[in-house]
Amino acid sequence: MPENNLVEVSHLRKTYGATVAVDDVSLTVRPGEIFGILGPNGAGKTTTVESIAGLRTPDAGTVRVAGLDPRKRRTEITSLIGVQLQASELPERIKAWEALELYASFYPDPADPAELLERLGLTAVRDTAFAKLSGGQKQRLSIALALIGNPKIAILDELTTGLDPQARRDTWELVKQIRDSGVTIILVTHFMEEAEYLCDRIAIIDNGLVVALDTPAGLVDSARVEQRISFRVPGSLDDSVLKALPAVDSVARDGDRIVVTGNDDLLVEVVVELAARGQAPRDLHTEQTTLDDAFLALAGRHLEGADR
Ligand code: ADP
Repeated sequence: MPENNLVEVSHLRKTYGATVAVDDVSLTVRPGEIFGILGPNGAGKTTTVESIAGLRTPDAGTVRVAGLDPRKRRTEITSLIGVQLQASELPERIKAWEALELYASFYPDPADPAELLERLGLTAVRDTAFAKLSGGQKQRLSIALALIGNPKIAILDELTTGLDPQARRDTWELVKQIRDSGVTIILVTHFMEEAEYLCDRIAIIDNGLVVALDTPAGLVDSARVEQRISFRVPGSLDDSVLKALPAVDSVARDGDRIVVTGNDDLLVEVVVELAARGQAPRDLHTEQTTLDDAFLALAGRHLEGADR
């Protein structure tokens, strides 16, 4: 395995009876990166990361973490990978510090629970029962539990689901700090914005398959099939004037706005042509391709809302 890959998944396949949870997934995670696994609910994201953590046995394909087979080297893998617990998995009455002390006792070289509480902003609620914590505090505690074993890799699964926008933002900053402290992060999410903001690279998974794997900017670039601009012009303008330009593919009207699509030269050609006619465009908008457009282009539908 090349030294620069911490995790290597090759042609992973996992079925549950007739359900193909993961069809054919290959990906690599490099040390120090925040690697996103993005896709709608049921795409196979959790099954993929559970296989990386050694919690599932693949039907086919291989998984290696630091060169080790996670199913065969349980002890080493448990120290290497911290998995974020789903919030519901803790007893209601356990206090934050008790949960951390308990989990610390499972590991040979755990982090200091008090230090971790401080780092995650939980010192003030260290004696609060789990059930009484806010959503954001519960989430931070579950991240603390993922980090208590001093792992090299933290797997964070849907970590901001159910959080309000401010708590989500705070959690994002926390994830960056954790990465900056030297922990490689695998982030499972179905939030486009979260993946775009946090991740160095993203695997888009749909129906158990990797449909794309690239940096957020790379994904957007690969989906940038056409440029689109819209504007108004003084006076009247026949569509045929614009259609005659080599860069233009289509011309449409949206009220008094003209919407034109075409290739990379579109903007320059249209502006030059209109300026030459003394009809310089007004209120000109160029449209940015987003990661959601990339998902649409790659998977044939929108991500947000596709799963609900
Ligand atoms: P995601 O994390 O992207 O939502 P999952 O990996 O959880 O996707 O699930 C992928 C598919 O496998 C879904 O159809 C899900 O219902 C199914 N699945 C997941 N876990 C199990 C299980 N333990 N038994 C049966 N089916 C499962």
